[in-house]
Amino acid sequence: MEQSRAVVIGAGVGGLTAAAALHRRGWFVTVLERAALDPSGAGIALAPNAQRALDTIGLGDEVRASAAWQGGGGLRTPGGRRLARMDGAAVAQRFGGPVVLLHRATLVDLLLSRLPEGCVHTGAPAELTDPGDARRPARVATADGEREADLVVGADGVHSAVRRALFPGHPGPRYAGFTTWRVVVPAPEHPFEPHETWGRGRLWGSQPMRDGRVYAYAAAFTPPGGHAPDGEKAELLRLFGHWHRPVPDILAAAEPGAVLRHDVRAMTASLPAYHRGRTALLGDAAHAMAPTLGQGGNQAIEDAVVLAHHLSPYAADPAADPGGALAAYTRDRLPRTMDVVRRSARAARAISLAGAPAVALRNAAVATATRLAPGLLLRGFDGIADWAPPGTPARAPRQPS
Ligand SMILES: Cc1cc2nc3c(=O)[nH]c(=O)nc-3n(C[C@H](O)[C@H](O)[C@H](O)COP(=O)(O)OP(=O)(O)OC[C@H]3O[C@@H](n4cnc5c(N)ncnc54)[C@H](O)[C@@H]3O)c2cc1C
Repeated sequence: MEQSRAVVIGAGVGGLTAAAALHRRGWFVTVLERAALDPSGAGIALAPNAQRALDTIGLGDEVRASAAWQGGGGLRTPGGRRLARMDGAAVAQRFGGPVVLLHRATLVDLLLSRLPEGCVHTGAPAELTDPGDARRPARVATADGEREADLVVGADGVHSAVRRALFPGHPGPRYAGFTTWRVVVPAPEHPFEPHETWGRGRLWGSQPMRDGRVYAYAAAFTPPGGHAPDGEKAELLRLFGHWHRPVPDILAAAEPGAVLRHDVRAMTASLPAYHRGRTALLGDAAHAMAPTLGQGGNQAIEDAVVLAHHLSPYAADPAADPGGALAAYTRDRLPRTMDVVRRSARAARAISLAGAPAVALRNAAVATATRLAPGLLLRGFDGIADWAPPGTPARAPRQPS
């Protein structure tokens, strides 16, 4: 039997999920990653939408078993006052399952377990030289020479060169106004309630992971390109060292070299399509978004399984033109992901407030609104976390809260 060949550029969450999903549908898959696999020491939260996508490649149960449930917690002020309670059980009830948190390296290992030995090449930068068309395969240049492919998946992240090759006139993502830090530390001695804390143009979150460690993330509205001359841990101490516990404890436990800092870039204008010729884009390459709803990776995972769903009939027919399937992929994914991009940007605006009166008003509004309507914060995820992949039963409509 003939087998169609897919080349995936980039082995982040999106690329590896696409590889696993295409392999499961019968494609011969090669993944080319310019760096090492998941060098980032960070956690990732997966909402029920991504978990349902991972169910289609037989990984949902393992992800849930390796993850900590992001259960109860609080939205707080830097002084520690609780503005709102975040109720894990209410999330599960509203969206058909909990949000789970796991280390990125765990997710990468699980995805690799669904791929054949030798299909992922690291230290292997790749460049799309021809997106292909109905009659011609796509071509990818590597250090070992050129490869032909019946499909190329551009999963090469926010600075995607595949996106630029397909749509050279598109402006690409822009700085979203804030920078982020992430770190994983051993659990502090003093127990704490998971929390997200909103200050004046700053945010901090601390969440326990299943292995006993703690994942912390922070954001600050600041000009792009900044780096602390004395290191990012020192910068975090200046910005957050006086915030409520466990923030100072986590900072004390952080290895200076383990603190990751990234400026956030997001797509402001939509691409005209998520494919051209025989090449598809997914994840941050297609729709980089602010991490305020924790959906960038979730949407990349959704993209990957939807792409594989549409390409399933082509796995054993390399001569066939997958143009119709790729157009269906764009139709399914572009409006949905751009909606999540816009909603993530809106959520970022609430955190960007820095003036004392505006912050006081925001805090009062959040506290009052969530007291009157406890499900209010969750409504921001309606239409996102309740998504189900094509070919699986849709979630029953929600009752209003
Ligand atoms: C602070 C922060 C917190 C976040 N938290 C969450 C969260 O909790 N949940 C969530 O869902 N999302 C979260 N996100 C977003 C999430 O990290 C991204 O959306 C997600 O990693 C995108 O995956 P990707 O596979 O598209 O791209 P990436 O993970 O960026 O992977 C792209 C890969 O392509 C490789 N590459 C690039 N160019 C080439 C080339 N020429 N040849 C070969 N390889 C190449 C890169 O080395 C990289 O490995 C967060 C983001 C930030 C900044």
